[in-house]
Amino acid sequence: MPIRVLPEDVASQIAAGEVVERPASVVKELIENAIDAGARTVEVEVRSGGKGFVRVVDDGCGVPKDEVELAFHRHATSKLTTAEDLERITTLGFRGEALASIAAVSRMTFATRAADEAVGSLLRLEGGQIQSRRQVGRPPGTAVTVENLFFNVPARRKFLRTDRTERRHVDRWVTRYAMAYPGLRFTLSHSGQGALQSPGSGELRDVLAAIYGPEIGQNMLGMVPDGQGDESSIHVSGLVAPPSFHRANRTYISVFVNGRWVKDASLTYAITQAYHRFLPSGRHPLAVVMVGLPPADVDVNVHPTKAEVRFRDSDAVFRAVQKAVRRTLLERAPIPEARHGLGGHEEAGSAWPRAGSVGDRAQGRRDRLIGLGRREPPADGQLRFEGGVSATADGRSIPPLRVIGQLGTTYIVAEGPEGLVLLDQHAAHERVLFERLLGQREKAEATSQALLDPALVELGPEAADLLEEHSQALAQLGFELEPFGGSTVLVRALPTILAEDAPGQVLEDVAAALLAGDEPLGTPVEETVARQVCKQAAIKAGQGLDRAEMEALIRALEQCESPRTCPHGRPTMIRLTVEQLAREFGRS
Ligand code: ADP
Ligand code: MG
Repeated sequence: MPIRVLPEDVASQIAAGEVVERPASVVKELIENAIDAGARTVEVEVRSGGKGFVRVVDDGCGVPKDEVELAFHRHATSKLTTAEDLERITTLGFRGEALASIAAVSRMTFATRAADEAVGSLLRLEGGQIQSRRQVGRPPGTAVTVENLFFNVPARRKFLRTDRTERRHVDRWVTRYAMAYPGLRFTLSHSGQGALQSPGSGELRDVLAAIYGPEIGQNMLGMVPDGQGDESSIHVSGLVAPPSFHRANRTYISVFVNGRWVKDASLTYAITQAYHRFLPSGRHPLAVVMVGLPPADVDVNVHPTKAEVRFRDSDAVFRAVQKAVRRTLLERAPIPEARHGLGGHEEAGSAWPRAGSVGDRAQGRRDRLIGLGRREPPADGQLRFEGGVSATADGRSIPPLRVIGQLGTTYIVAEGPEGLVLLDQHAAHERVLFERLLGQREKAEATSQALLDPALVELGPEAADLLEEHSQALAQLGFELEPFGGSTVLVRALPTILAEDAPGQVLEDVAAALLAGDEPLGTPVEETVARQVCKQAAIKAGQGLDRAEMEALIRALEQCESPRTCPHGRPTMIRLTVEQLAREFGRS
């Protein structure tokens, strides 16, 4: 074929492909435009994962009526004029490509009103061509609606994943910008259902509370301010989790450079490194780290999506991040509660009760009766019956327990140094299985058992799709699945702990867990699946256990990193202290 210049529409589709990979890219670019426009609130509304519908509404500066059409030209931007400007980019956008790209591959409505104009403009485009333009009454700001993404690029449309997956990508971008701009109010809804609302209080902590829940919001450690003053041009801030809040993978680490989320393996590593020795091996921290540095020291024009950056001195940035996180952990991480020296407990901890007053004798009797403090003095005078919390503040160990018996074929009754302990046999076993399963996966040990008869399982289309999409994660946990045409799946092997169960039921339940959508944003799929697997495999309430089984379960629980809660966060054990018993019986 002779060389030809591509027709305009083909060229623009190719260019669009670099910027718009999936619905989430549209959301990302429109949010960036809203932020650049000085918006205080940004509302994102998405349907069917964004494949059918995305709308982003802001209250920013709007586009003056004379410039509305221009905004859709490729390389048309108000953020840059000269090549030198590239050295001092302070806006999120600057390439002038997003609107042109999105418009080229969708049906778009762009409604906008500049603050100082009386009426707004409304532009409709299809495949990049302007269909109509009219005046519209609307508040200052901009509302962009993008429908039927890739309607004219079937090849691209084919590569879109399930609504759920696309939705997750959308969630990620909205949460990233909510973190980067805590002063702005972001709302996100999926098919009319609210998914996220950031309060716009200006506090990153509040944003994290909205995303990950109040407990994480409250406990994150503020980065210790840079001791170097003006000397260093690299400024690191943000919030990092105390070591007790670890996660199974790195998706809870977010890095921002000058207000832009970036994908940077090296900086992620710097953060993980700073937690060295603070975390159990194979676990990862939660962290939101903001790096600020002079725009001239970072090149953001590396990739059309602007999610990668290049630093002039990447070693210096690495060191600054690592140092700041490390210092924060050293100075601010909570110290596990003291195990000794709490009032009268020291006496109680001694193996030889002093003879003397009546009180002391009573104490001595109590000691003998329940073995109080023989191995470990109680740590905390205020242990509560309802509390799964804990002798050690990090929740990583349990006191030595002696099995007394089983209660209601549901609970194990045991005696600990502080008094009576009740364990929920199902929750405890779930915890044991969960850590084993994830541990084996990390060590890549075989956890799988082949079925004698591979089973065909018929699932709903979305379930089959989900399982296929996550086949790698499932394989790591011991599932060996093969698509068998349509929404039928061939099960060749299951995780060993489930080998006795009916494969159909197992897959149904795993798919249901993946579909349920009750996981916090960004929960790694392995954890979701592992939780479900363990829930199924764990001994149930109502199952009788003999003493040896109960003892084995307790020994296994002692080996766990987080023995005090089940993988769903419920307590595995509660306790009634000797003091409480004494109070209840009117002895004190
Ligand atoms: P870029 O953001 O790189 O400049 P875009 O194609 O995303 O390129 O946008 C082109 C121009 O349209 C912007 O430079 C800006 O002037 C204007 N614009 C786009 N979206 C908005 C918005 N939400 N509010 C105000 N102006 C906007
Ligand atoms: Mg832009």
